[in-house]
Amino acid sequence: MAAFPEGKSEERKHKSIPNGSGASQGQWGRAWEVDWFSLASVLFLLTFSPLIVYYFIMSCDQYHCSLTDPVIDVLMGNSHLSDIWNKTPSLSWKAANIYICWVTFQVMLYILVPDFCHKFLPGYVGGVQEGALTPAGTVNKYEINGLQAWIITHALWFANAYYFHWFSPTIIFDNWIPLLWCANILGYSVSTFAMIKSYLFPSNPKDCKFTGNLFYDYMMGIEFNPRIGKWFDFKLFFNGRPGIVAWTLINLSYAAKQQELYGQVTNSMILVNVLQGIYVLDFFWNEAWYLKTIDICHDHFGWYLGWGDCVWLPYLYTLQGLYLVYHPVQLSTANAVGILLLGLVGYYIFRMTNHQKDLFRRTDGNCKIWGKKPEYIECSYTSVDGTKYYSKLMISGFWGVARHFNYTGDLMGSLAYCLTCGFGHILPYFYIIYMTILLTHRCIRDEHRCSSKYSKDWKRYTTAVPYRLIPGVF
Ligand code: NDP
Repeated sequence: MAAFPEGKSEERKHKSIPNGSGASQGQWGRAWEVDWFSLASVLFLLTFSPLIVYYFIMSCDQYHCSLTDPVIDVLMGNSHLSDIWNKTPSLSWKAANIYICWVTFQVMLYILVPDFCHKFLPGYVGGVQEGALTPAGTVNKYEINGLQAWIITHALWFANAYYFHWFSPTIIFDNWIPLLWCANILGYSVSTFAMIKSYLFPSNPKDCKFTGNLFYDYMMGIEFNPRIGKWFDFKLFFNGRPGIVAWTLINLSYAAKQQELYGQVTNSMILVNVLQGIYVLDFFWNEAWYLKTIDICHDHFGWYLGWGDCVWLPYLYTLQGLYLVYHPVQLSTANAVGILLLGLVGYYIFRMTNHQKDLFRRTDGNCKIWGKKPEYIECSYTSVDGTKYYSKLMISGFWGVARHFNYTGDLMGSLAYCLTCGFGHILPYFYIIYMTILLTHRCIRDEHRCSSKYSKDWKRYTTAVPYRLIPGVF
């Protein structure tokens, strides 16, 4: 969904790391001026994203996950759009109650339960952590307790499924479309509230970005870090919970539905649960690191994040599990092992590449990468106030294989999820198609930014590491 231009500089980010120092008050984050292409993209996404989500979920509910049958049905005159709409379950009190309880519970876990995981899990960074320097020169503090929220939520889920029996573990699947309306209500409410808040009572007025274009501001956000009180940070909460905590619960609900319908859970469903479970746990284990990624350091909070985290992520990132409820694929052992290996190797590349850069930047190159001192290209850049800064681009380890090998690992993992579903339908492959577009675009816009930042030094780097994602290909 990140289809918009970024601003020019994030030089001050280097203030917090050893290989750069000093700060400038320059342009930052996304564009200040909205060109016609950006506006057209915004209008397109605002209009079509909700329809895309509805179409995918409706296709599973009414057409066994076929994306073409609804169109054929309507074109052949067998069905009218109104028939499809009339067959769609509407908002129910039950779903509304489930959703209110769910979001309230996550809010309580986020603001009322300080992290205790970092006290006994070696290597885990939790508790109060600092984010990156904002354009206005603020460093926000965050309570990193996502792992704990995930553990408590899932412990309760299993306790309910095996002991208390308060509700059926298929509850999410059984109310999937009514819950979609609830998620939309929250997504639109929070985005609208964030917009009004940025005019009336912004958390940090100097970090607001008004482009003057209402649609662009609504979608891409005005406030950089909207907060309520000292700790309720919209970006951290909505990015991680309820969407990503829900991701693994949704998959568990799909597995429970398979069990109910067919008396067994297929190996493909187990693979989806395991591989996506690793990805989700990785996210929460590294939640403090996540504060320094493009998502948190660049994006303002608008519909793109608010609605995206409430609706797009939980509904479209979980399509494989949903598909497997309607089409229970039992993979041969060889295929299951092959997919598991692809997913694990992809995850390993994704994690190690991110780790290598983090280590390299944290230690200013005084570390070992693959057992050796890393090689790098010395580079410099000038901030808007004319100050010269120095930085380093590593060309060792995975960063010497390709310039965005972390994205390649991510894509391998994404492909593995999709392959669990076999080749009966295109719907479960949406995820790999979407991730390929998202990460290729992200890679191009990041390189555009790095090229203007490092200029001839970036050229030296791209000569040393000529490929972006796949050596010899791209
Ligand atoms: P990266 O972690 O790849 O960071 C890019 C930045 O790293 C560049 O702007 C540059 O910043 C610095 N850099 C580039 N090359 C080098 C080098 N050789 N040595 C040292 N520093 C370098 O980008 P993201 O924040 O986009 O991604 C983080 C992770 O999140 C990725 O693994 C990605 O796959 C994942 N992701 C997942 C999504 C999902 O929906 N599942 C969505 C988006 C991302 P500088 O200016 O400091 O030099």
